[in-house]
Amino acid sequence: MNAQPIVGAASPYDVASVRRDFPILATTVRGKRLAFLDTAASSQRPLSVIEAVNHYERTSHANVHRGVYQLSQRATDAFEGARERVRRFLNAASIKEVVFTRGTTESINLVAQSWGRRLQPGDEILVTWMEHHANIVPWQMLCERTGAVLKVAPIDRQGELDLEGFKQLLSPRTRLAAFTQISNSLGTMLPIEDMVRAARAAGALTLIDGAQAVAHQRVDVQALDCDFYVFSSHKLYGPTGLGVLWAREAVLREMPPWQGGGDMIRTVSFTKTTYNDLPYRFEAGTPHISGAVGLAAAIDYLEGLGIERVHAHEQHLLQRATAALREVPGLTIIGEAARKGGVISFLLEGVHPHDLGTILDAEGVAIRAGHHCAMPVMEFFDVPATARASFGCYTDEADIEQLLSALATAREVFG
Ligand code: PMP
Repeated sequence: MNAQPIVGAASPYDVASVRRDFPILATTVRGKRLAFLDTAASSQRPLSVIEAVNHYERTSHANVHRGVYQLSQRATDAFEGARERVRRFLNAASIKEVVFTRGTTESINLVAQSWGRRLQPGDEILVTWMEHHANIVPWQMLCERTGAVLKVAPIDRQGELDLEGFKQLLSPRTRLAAFTQISNSLGTMLPIEDMVRAARAAGALTLIDGAQAVAHQRVDVQALDCDFYVFSSHKLYGPTGLGVLWAREAVLREMPPWQGGGDMIRTVSFTKTTYNDLPYRFEAGTPHISGAVGLAAAIDYLEGLGIERVHAHEQHLLQRATAALREVPGLTIIGEAARKGGVISFLLEGVHPHDLGTILDAEGVAIRAGHHCAMPVMEFFDVPATARASFGCYTDEADIEQLLSALATAREVFG
């Protein structure tokens, strides 16, 4: 036998090697090394994902679920194989529970428009103050349509959820509690296990917005015991334009169809149309087949790295960057929760976040500046916007150093 080096769970996380898997990280921006610190908005793609999509397009594309010819069968196998990959990734009980959508936003809209159709005036939906607009506006629209009432659980100045406040807002009228697992604007990890337990005890269903979590920590929907879990492929190192709605089968079965069209029906006539089985009943029209192939490759990639190891790496960077940013004169971190994902929102005294973003860009540092689709959070902290640095599996110490040095430049410019 060959004496192969043993690469096991104990081997150190080799971020330099991970970075080589992402071609875009080798590009330069304005002549500078790219420090990509906007993974929370959209992650970059490893070569294996790019190549899986490329391979599919070159060898297997046809429409799915329709043709009897071999190519269509190949495309269907690739698409359904991706569904099974997602099922395993989430530890879902069945592929019937895995619905492909366009993304987190569409997944939540699907739940609001289908499941939500039965709400009665006075029914309540409970969200938190730190939700992304995608987990606020669909519920507001639903409330407008049905007369249901949107309740908002409070947060505190640290950016923590007020768990007692959340529990107090649960009532016999609460039909659904919908909350994020990790806040995209503050980085806060919410106590989702406690929230699910409390909501369930109150007789409410739960929806978890996993957009910021699923690429950074292990998710097991059965262990979480929630009813809906939603995420986007593009924040998980996969292609844009694709997302997942996982829903407990018993819940999904009771939901009326959402969009109508091809693939979601069994038979159509002008007297009576019957609907397809789960999950196809919720997938009208030709899906994003290559996107699903890419997502499956992205999951393979992430699990190949080891999600737990990626998590530990990102947590290490979070500690290191938080400590260093605290030392920058005039810099305030917005969101100092005890448990955070790899997201740091901050303000630099005397510099508007948008101007800061522009100066940092000139130094090759890509951060997000704005309200992060979380205007209520900005309102709560009484700021128009923040600058935000966020991390992924490929973020390294050099990115943090580049950020710190670009911040020093910004202080000189505005100083
Ligand atoms: N929820 C959260 C917590 C997010 O961070 C985002 C993306 N910023 C979304 C929802 C919406 O995701 P998408 O735009 O991919 O639908």
